[in-house]
Amino acid sequence: MVIILFGPPGAGKGTQAHLLAQRLGLPRIVTGDLFREAITRGDALGAQVKPYLERGELVPDDLTIALVVARLQRADCVAGVVLDGFPRTVAQAQWFDHELKKHRRAVDCVVNLVVGDDEVFHRLAGRMICSACQRTYHVTAMRPEKIGVCDQCGGKLIQRADDSSAAIPVRLRAYREQTEPVLTYYRGKQCVVNVDGEASPEVVQQRILDSLPFALMAASSS
Ligand code: ADP
Ligand code: ADP
Ligand code: ZN
Repeated sequence: MVIILFGPPGAGKGTQAHLLAQRLGLPRIVTGDLFREAITRGDALGAQVKPYLERGELVPDDLTIALVVARLQRADCVAGVVLDGFPRTVAQAQWFDHELKKHRRAVDCVVNLVVGDDEVFHRLAGRMICSACQRTYHVTAMRPEKIGVCDQCGGKLIQRADDSSAAIPVRLRAYREQTEPVLTYYRGKQCVVNVDGEASPEVVQQRILDSLPFALMAASSS
């Protein structure tokens, strides 16, 4: 099964993708994390994508698609995947459909997390991530047990460079102009569900499980 978590920066895609993947026993493909890991490693991909992430712009499609191709080829993706942050352009969505078709598969569900602008700003401004494992926290809404330290691995919590006031408007504009049309593309394929993302993470997760198509719901309750 192939599930896409969709929504503006800060909507809670990462938080929900993590819970959903655990629940369904599927791997996650998180393009933002993959890019940030490449930047931390300092390899050639990292050097190419760094300026885009810093500015808050989308990475070009060819680089993004190459990254996803490599990740999809790994054995753990055979039963399906939960995608967070991909596809973000119509060209990426078209390429992804084409790729899935080759394996006689299709996107099963696009979960569109609906969160208002004020809440998005609040979530982005208070987001902290683990510098070692990328787990996400929030300074007020999702606090770690010990300030500044990751509950999961003991790593140091940091603010993402692009959660700065300069990059946020650029990212929101990229979302409206380049990413929102992806929703129209999938609406044409009747696989979009809208989920109200303004509640606690647990409540939002239950709303997602309740809104999945029947076949996926059966898998999630087993
Ligand atoms: P957020 O969680 O705030 O939505 P992400 O961590 O998903 O942000 O992405 C961070 C950055 O990584 C984006 O601003 C963009 O530069 C790059 N990125 C991630 N996914 C994609 C994609 N599918 N296409 C192009 N760029 C991407
Ligand atoms: P995205 O991947 O869409 O950018 P994240 O999952 O990283 O979103 O969440 C953005 C910020 O909001 C993080 O600091 C996260 O801890 C926090 N957050 C996520 N879900 C909720 C929620 N339901 N209520 C309050 N804060 C949340
Ligand atoms: Zn950690």
